[in-house]
Amino acid sequence: MFWEKDIETISRDQLKALQLERLQKTTETAVNSPFYRQLFKGKGLAPHDFKSLDDLQRIPMTTKDDLREEWPYGFLAVPKEEIVRMHSSSGTTGRAIVIFHTQSDLDSWTNQLARCMYMAGMRKMDVFQNMMTYALFTGGLGFHYGAEKLGAMVIPSGPGNSKRQIQLMQDFDTTAIHIIPSYALHLTQVFEEVGVDPKKDTRLKMAFIGAEPHSEQMRERIEDFYGIKAFNSYGLSEMSGPGVSFECTCQNGMHIWEDAYIVEIVNPDTMEPLPDGETGELVMTTLCRQGMPMLRYRTKDLTRIIPGDCPCGRTHRRIERIKGRSDDMMILKGVNIFPIQIEKKLMEIPGVGGNFLIMLERKGFNDDMIIKVEVEREYFTGDLKKLESLRKTIINELKSDILITPHVDLVEPNSLPTTEGKAKRVIDNRKD
Ligand code: ADP
Ligand code: ZN
Repeated sequence: MFWEKDIETISRDQLKALQLERLQKTTETAVNSPFYRQLFKGKGLAPHDFKSLDDLQRIPMTTKDDLREEWPYGFLAVPKEEIVRMHSSSGTTGRAIVIFHTQSDLDSWTNQLARCMYMAGMRKMDVFQNMMTYALFTGGLGFHYGAEKLGAMVIPSGPGNSKRQIQLMQDFDTTAIHIIPSYALHLTQVFEEVGVDPKKDTRLKMAFIGAEPHSEQMRERIEDFYGIKAFNSYGLSEMSGPGVSFECTCQNGMHIWEDAYIVEIVNPDTMEPLPDGETGELVMTTLCRQGMPMLRYRTKDLTRIIPGDCPCGRTHRRIERIKGRSDDMMILKGVNIFPIQIEKKLMEIPGVGGNFLIMLERKGFNDDMIIKVEVEREYFTGDLKKLESLRKTIINELKSDILITPHVDLVEPNSLPTTEGKAKRVIDNRKD
């Protein structure tokens, strides 16, 4: 049993009182770090100044660049001997940052992950295959300890080695998997290759998919192929890793654990707070971290709070699936485009396979978008008219959504590069 009912269904008033109490403790710890000591001093702030949650607004936001500049120990708020583990971000947008954990930090993180998986329906009798990197990346170890805490049997398979993954699923009756969505689609090809149908030949029931942006259409493809429910899982190293926000069985947005974080959505240009319902940048403050508390951390992830209550009864608010990082936005001929918009359209078109790659080129004064799209093998046999007609459909569908006309190259399944980690969707060859 891992349903922390009292805390998951706490009244909003009680939750706010708990947040304030934890915020006060967090600021007291944070000022032990060189970075926050300096920041508080510079602003004339003292940790006991925080009499209400609104006072949080007086603290300037912390950015990834601050973490990079303070590398490695500038945010450490406890003596080094209290630290039992370090992790690092994937380094998707530049130099990776490092996060230090005390035992109590790891315990709270593990608890959050157990809570998430229980919420999505995983139980003690489940067999959990963790197909994420077990290393500095937080996805592997984070889920591993959470699943053990829940009492499930964990198969620490790590990523890659696709045929063996399928074999493990069959041999040990795996019921739940943790997998990067782009890899889940890549694996569908391997299932076909080895002649295993996950619906009939495995006991899979659920997948936890996250670590990279993905569309509702991609989720549906995964659910259809595997015959499972796929739950969106969001987190970032700076907030410990996965387990920050997760879908319940209603699959209508991800509950974000507000006993562990204060959540703000701000306009990324002006930093003004935005009301529930409006899309902006997620800013978070840790409430349960000791080794390395983070105050008003700018995640760069774009989302919104979904207004209204969730039928599951949990009172922690829900965020919408992440639209992308503000850094992911491509500006082409004056139009702002996120890779996820392209993915969403592609996944709706029958015949389109599981992988694509966007390339941006500059020719003279013109920017061009070239999209390589994997399509099903049958399009490359026999009459190539079908292939050309699919290409035209893709161009027209994309044009109606992103308002520019991309060049589209159709390629055979499994011909585009895949990674064991996060997919690389865009190659920008434009020179400034
Ligand atoms: P890096 O920031 O270097 O990629 P992390 O491994 O800490 O390192 O990745 C966290 C980031 O991954 C988040 O800030 C977000 O951009 C992305 N991410 C994680 N989970 C999801 C998800 N479910 N949907 C969309 N993006 C996600
Ligand atoms: Zn819910």
